[in-house]
Amino acid sequence: VKGYLSRISERKNLNAFLETFDQSAIERAKEVDSKITAKTAGKLAGMVIGIKDNIVYKGHKVSASSKMLENFESLFSATVVEKLLEEDAIIIGRLNCDEFAMGSSTENSAFGVTHNAENEAFVPGGSSGGSAVAVQAGLCLVALGSDTGGSIRQPASYCGVVGIKPTYGRVSRNGLIAFASSFDQIGPFTKSVDDAALVLEVISGHDKMDSTSSSKAVPSYSQSIQEKENKKYKIAYIKDCLQHQGLNEEVRQTVNNEIERLKKEGHIVEPISFPFLDYMVPTYYVLTTAEASSNLARYDGVHFGYRSPNASNLEETYVYSRSEGFGAEVKRRIMLGTYVLSAGYYDAYYAKAQKVRRILRDKTKAIFAEFDFILSPTTTNSAFKIGEKSDDPIEMYLEDIFTVQANLVGMPAISIPIGKTSNNMPFGLQLMADAFEEEKLLDISKKIM
Ligand code: GLN
Repeated sequence: VKGYLSRISERKNLNAFLETFDQSAIERAKEVDSKITAKTAGKLAGMVIGIKDNIVYKGHKVSASSKMLENFESLFSATVVEKLLEEDAIIIGRLNCDEFAMGSSTENSAFGVTHNAENEAFVPGGSSGGSAVAVQAGLCLVALGSDTGGSIRQPASYCGVVGIKPTYGRVSRNGLIAFASSFDQIGPFTKSVDDAALVLEVISGHDKMDSTSSSKAVPSYSQSIQEKENKKYKIAYIKDCLQHQGLNEEVRQTVNNEIERLKKEGHIVEPISFPFLDYMVPTYYVLTTAEASSNLARYDGVHFGYRSPNASNLEETYVYSRSEGFGAEVKRRIMLGTYVLSAGYYDAYYAKAQKVRRILRDKTKAIFAEFDFILSPTTTNSAFKIGEKSDDPIEMYLEDIFTVQANLVGMPAISIPIGKTSNNMPFGLQLMADAFEEEKLLDISKKIM
């Protein structure tokens, strides 16, 4: 723990950690040490973990990187945190992210941007940018992030680490500060597939505090990926993804090489057509902004968080607190979400997008009736420069073109590092599987890495 704490302070300029929990981490480390001596330690004994600043930990601050929750302290721990602690992991601190997890670059944090550790002029991706950089730079062994439309996989791609978004309902959302509740899932960032498997098996499972969590049994992912040595898979890739005009040539080439390699190793890899790519990002942004506008209604200056000192009546308390407490991107989404839910537009936008979501799910399900995985690049390119896209929300939203499908359909997807562009910035390969097929997903990932 002390080693990591000193590395964190050496790399303070990356702005990955918003706060380290020095005292509680060192105390826990001592407890874990004595459990190790007594041979009673759990599966994650001594694993030092950072958590995204939207996952609550009892007695510690959590802000969702927003001025709205600055200095807010949680009265309880997220279920994932409890599960990690039960297995004797050590939580070392909280990690910067886009405000309320809205963004693709960690530039939307109220507490400054996070820098990519490969080259500090570049973004780490987002919204879980701090989590990705913490693992990339060795500031902790594992980090938790959350993924609503790509916020684990896209930063994993940009930082050259492994990131997995589990099936919707695999991991409890209790204690995750909500962005879009029917999309959000917590998952790990790691350097290896083995670590991802181990942490995922610990945090997965039914939770009575989250009625959308699944009661399906949790396989021992870390064991089963050791046992599947010779399994051959059937893998699809969407033609339109690899022909996408925004796709970087080096990324395309590397993904094509991976496809050839997989074929040589005896897997079946086939192109498929799935002519819905253009509908994904718009559907995602209609539905997630709608859910966000509803989830964020609770920040009213009364129940929690920031209260404007300038208000002199109730109406002003709401208006000033929300105007001063939220950043520009969060406000944009609340307004967009309120609009698509409003009486005159509900059917045209929200209800329509729900129907599109259902069709996307059915069509995706049909692919998995024939194939084990859908393969694609995680991102169209490696990381962009800080500031490069911050004036253009649409361009930023299009970052999510390959990642939002998994959240729209509730299926698991992973990003694993496969190469670097000529400027030395990493990028990843994405694999998506049918619901609750994390075991297979981790297995194929281990074979590829
Ligand atoms: N970039 C996407 C967005 O801004 C994804 C965010 C996320 O997964 N939390 O909504």
